[in-house]
Amino acid sequence: VNNVSDSKNLRVKLVLLGDSGVGKSCIVLRFVRGQFDPTSKVTVGASFLSQTIALQDSTTVKFEIWDTAGQERYAALAPLYYRGAAVAVVVYDITSPESFNKAQYWVKELQKHGSPDIVMAFVGNKADLQEKREVPAQDGMDYAEKNGMFFIETSAKTADNINELFEVIAKRLPRPPP
Ligand code: GDP
Ligand code: MG
Repeated sequence: VNNVSDSKNLRVKLVLLGDSGVGKSCIVLRFVRGQFDPTSKVTVGASFLSQTIALQDSTTVKFEIWDTAGQERYAALAPLYYRGAAVAVVVYDITSPESFNKAQYWVKELQKHGSPDIVMAFVGNKADLQEKREVPAQDGMDYAEKNGMFFIETSAKTADNINELFEVIAKRLPRPPP
């Protein structure tokens, strides 16, 4: 996977996958711009943004983020985005069991066709909507653990755990030798 610049500065391709409406674009916008726009547009095809973070050990990680559209009509394009990705972030909405099932479909797809050393995160978004929750956190945690993924619940709306998501990913990346 082409995620290496040098031992101090990593560059990684990251792809977001998940059902339409789970909040993928809002997660990216929150991470990259620190904003939440409740009137944000539906992603067409895919969009690209990048963001660099600094870790405590003075290394930096530049995420090249491919935010895909979740609609069925774009499903055939997904391999273009996850092929060669060092990181996949699979997102569902904690208020939608259907999106949780769809997320599991994406995990299987990545296990079959993604890079063998891909770092995967399993993300339950819209954690601010506790009163509408339909997917227990434990279910997400159990599924992620079984499949060797890192699990976190986020809210793009309140910013809860958004930076943490990317920090944990950054720390889990394979490092080139110094
Ligand atoms: P995408 O299709 O996965 O990219 O989803 P979007 O990012 O376009 O978000 C879909 C809808 O969910 C929008 O109306 C957002 O305002 C809303 N949304 C996204 N993230 C959150 C969140 O964390 N909490 C709440 N309450 N709504 C969210
Ligand atoms: Mg989108």
